[in-house]
Amino acid sequence: MRCENHPALLSYQKRLDDSVSDACPGCKTAPHTMNHIMENCTQSPMPTTQHTLPERFVGNPEFG
Ligand SMILES: [Zn+2]
Repeated sequence: MRCENHPALLSYQKRLDDSVSDACPGCKTAPHTMNHIMENCTQSPMPTTQHTLPERFVGNPEFG
């Protein structure tokens, strides 16, 4: 699974439904992408799913 297609990401959901805002629900200053969450976001972007991401997502050099 490609990281940018994670179904929890609003950037992904927006692809499925253009009425969805892809703004980060945490800081609302950037698109809700995995790269943003991992590197830029200063808020708690995914309070329920952030801690359940497979470890392979974290620190994966292909990631973003
Ligand atoms: Zn953010």
